[in-house]
Amino acid sequence: MKYKGTSCVYLIHLDKPIRGNNQHYIGYTQDIIQRIATHRSGNKSSAQFLRMAKNMGVGWQLARIWWRAEVDFERDLKRRNAAKRMCPICNPTLYQQDFSDIEPKVLNE
Ligand SMILES: [Zn+2]
Repeated sequence: MKYKGTSCVYLIHLDKPIRGNNQHYIGYTQDIIQRIATHRSGNKSSAQFLRMAKNMGVGWQLARIWWRAEVDFERDLKRRNAAKRMCPICNPTLYQQDFSDIEPKVLNE
């Protein structure tokens, strides 16, 4: 699959909850590899929530991708507060995707 230019909605699962009881981040991108790299970098173009996690030393992993999903689906997931029940890490019976071609297993610095 050609990742760049393919829209997707993605779900990130944090190693532990932060800021109240938030353990997930949902985003939308048309370049998943670049977006994950940006999130990993923790620079200011990442999301505030994930920068906060990085500053707190809380690791995270990519948990799920909905390929060719659009931004309205992202909004819908957020509106329904659906991250936890859509997360294969929190719900091991859900289909586990392989992201080894997207993100080499790197440790959070
Ligand atoms: Zn989860």
